[in-house]
Amino acid sequence: MGARFTEVADRVWVARYPWYDVNVTAIGGSDGLVVVDTHASDRAAREVVSDVRAIGAGPVTAVVNTHEHFDHTFGNATFLDAWGDLPIHAHEVAAARTTAAGQRIKEAFAASGDPHAPEVEETRIVPATVTFSSARVLDLGDRAVELIHPGRGHTGGDVVVSVPDAGVLLAGDLVEESGPPSFGEDCYPLEWAATLDLVLQLVRPDGVVVPGHGRPVDRDYVQAQRVDLGIVAETIRGLAASGTPVAQAWAAAEWPYAEEVLAAAITRGYDQLPRGGRRLPLA
Ligand SMILES: [Zn+2]
Repeated sequence: MGARFTEVADRVWVARYPWYDVNVTAIGGSDGLVVVDTHASDRAAREVVSDVRAIGAGPVTAVVNTHEHFDHTFGNATFLDAWGDLPIHAHEVAAARTTAAGQRIKEAFAASGDPHAPEVEETRIVPATVTFSSARVLDLGDRAVELIHPGRGHTGGDVVVSVPDAGVLLAGDLVEESGPPSFGEDCYPLEWAATLDLVLQLVRPDGVVVPGHGRPVDRDYVQAQRVDLGIVAETIRGLAASGTPVAQAWAAAEWPYAEEVLAAAITRGYDQLPRGGRRLPLA
């Protein structure tokens, strides 16, 4: 079997793992590697650690979590096992939610009969240890990378990682390639498009964007996803303003994604409308 990590730009390696089709990225500098996201269990992360060692570009000096979901954070403990007391960086909201979100997913797996349930249940949950609210720069020796919270969208604490000298942006789950954007019970559907506007400002015309799941994409792909997310937000606002009850919202409009994709987006969107954004139906 060949190397798991593929170099997508100068010293930026991406590994795409079949379980959850999740990406882990390693960014190389003269001081070592920063690894972004850690996969979905202690066990899965042991494979990631071995794949990172196979790159042969030095030790891991820091870890970044793009957000708190387990498929991006449940390998954190294994990285500490392998490389000692590393800083693990995340947005303050993501770090604060990691343990509770992780416990909920363990309970969901326990009840599911999923063959991965044992390894998820036995995983040690370790939240990020170094947090920030808007932006932070990591010094890798001969290059710097930027951690930026462009706003809320997929979660309340989404972070993108910019490698400016390589023209690479790691978008976490703010951008999805292998499926539609993932709207869960912790998403911000009315804000996501504006968040992507800021992300787009960080992407060069020839830049590479690595999504949380799936193949790397280009700037046009992100722009198209932003348009669809904008339609979702404007449709929710329009329906609510015209007095359409949330239960009738799906049937009352054209949507860019399937009903099951948008269920949480519609309920969350209605809940998050500002006062006055929702009109009661006239009797
Ligand atoms: Zn996620």
